[in-house]
Amino acid sequence: MRQNKLFSQTRIRLAGWYALVIGLLLGLSGIGLYQAALYAQQYTLRQKLESLAGTLHDSLEPLLEHPGELSGTVRPLLPGVCLASGECFQPDDSRRHIAGVFQQEGYYLRFLDRTGQTIAFAGEQPVGKPTAAYWQRLVGVGDKRFEQISMPLRTKTGAAWGYLQIGRSLQDWDNYLHILRLTLLLGLPFVMLLVGGASWWLSGLAMQPIYRSYRQMQQFTSDAAHELRTPLTVLQSTLEDTWVAIDLPEVHQNLEIMERQNLRLSKLVKDLLLICRLEQPAPIKLHPCCLNDLIIDLQEELISVADAVDVLLQTKLPEDLVIVLGDESQLYRLGVNLITNAIHHTPAGGTVTVTLEGASHEALIHVQDTGIGIPPDQQAQIFERFYRVQSDRSRATGGSGLGLSIAQAIVQAHEGSIQLDSEVGKGSRFTVRLPLNHVDRHSTQA
Ligand code: ADP
Repeated sequence: MRQNKLFSQTRIRLAGWYALVIGLLLGLSGIGLYQAALYAQQYTLRQKLESLAGTLHDSLEPLLEHPGELSGTVRPLLPGVCLASGECFQPDDSRRHIAGVFQQEGYYLRFLDRTGQTIAFAGEQPVGKPTAAYWQRLVGVGDKRFEQISMPLRTKTGAAWGYLQIGRSLQDWDNYLHILRLTLLLGLPFVMLLVGGASWWLSGLAMQPIYRSYRQMQQFTSDAAHELRTPLTVLQSTLEDTWVAIDLPEVHQNLEIMERQNLRLSKLVKDLLLICRLEQPAPIKLHPCCLNDLIIDLQEELISVADAVDVLLQTKLPEDLVIVLGDESQLYRLGVNLITNAIHHTPAGGTVTVTLEGASHEALIHVQDTGIGIPPDQQAQIFERFYRVQSDRSRATGGSGLGLSIAQAIVQAHEGSIQLDSEVGKGSRFTVRLPLNHVDRHSTQA
């Protein structure tokens, strides 16, 4: 499968699509995982803060007497909490400490009066003036982030006292998310490498049955053509002998028809065998061949064909010799196919021009005619085997529809490309490109 360009290109494309789709799905799963972790973090933290704030709120409210004041009965419950003046509350061993959690690293607690002024606090505080929003995300020193909850407090008589705020630093969570992000990002190239390898293997596996049936079809065509060759040759020689042996004009006429059809069939079989050979993975034997000489030879051979239908066949060659490494007989066949097609599809009085160009990285051969052109919707199909343009079928030019398939197979065997530009009623131009590694340029002066 590797030696067949079409199959290896299709395998690369298939593997690329597999890798892209799996990569996208993995990327989306990574983003989903990250978002889920983010959500879980916020949910757990808020649950904890809400439960802490609720407990503290319910324990303190029955003890609060005057708005904005933390009286003597409340202070022993809040050890480590300091007033804005700097005085800190001391623990009372006889009583439980409901604010013990704020001694833990990362938490803070603060009390605001009704105007939003801080009355007392404990733990590391975020910067900026506090507000009374229920949930808030705040920033502290060194861009440390905090999640905070605010709850309004009332005195035991029901008057507004101020606010209780509890917050927690998000630093350990941010560190965890940073590591998660890093793991996902650094892991992605490694996973993509594995996905690429797996895609390549899977695409190979998927294409194996198709390649097998393609090879079987190719083998069948080659075997059938091979088997047909001998009976056709025998038939031809028998026809020739019969022709000489029987001297009757009516029989001669029939023999002539049979001979013509036999020759046509023999040419078809030869073309099929050539296509099969060109599609074999074995590399062609390369020899230096001068494209200038090749085109001159083609003109000499085909000028009589062009003259017969009153078409002018002309060539435009560069001063420099353009030498390609290739199979000369195959390149000659390529030229014959393109030029005879151009002649056959150009009305009397028209011109067929063969131009050779030696560019810095490739050799270009243009076969341009002023003929009938090819409709745009059929241009992609004309390189297919046995395909003939609709209008041509009714004209019965005698072609089998293999000429351009052979031309394309020859170009591909030389690692080149063939391109068609055509306009109905104005003419067609076939451009053959042969790459630099097959091209050698010599000056005529040299
Ligand atoms: P064939 O051997 O029958 O000519 P090809 O494979 O060479 O088959 O060509 C396929 C079809 O492409 C032909 O039927 C013909 O109609 C069309 N074609 C090829 N060359 C030209 C051209 N220069 N101008 C117009 N039509 C063309």
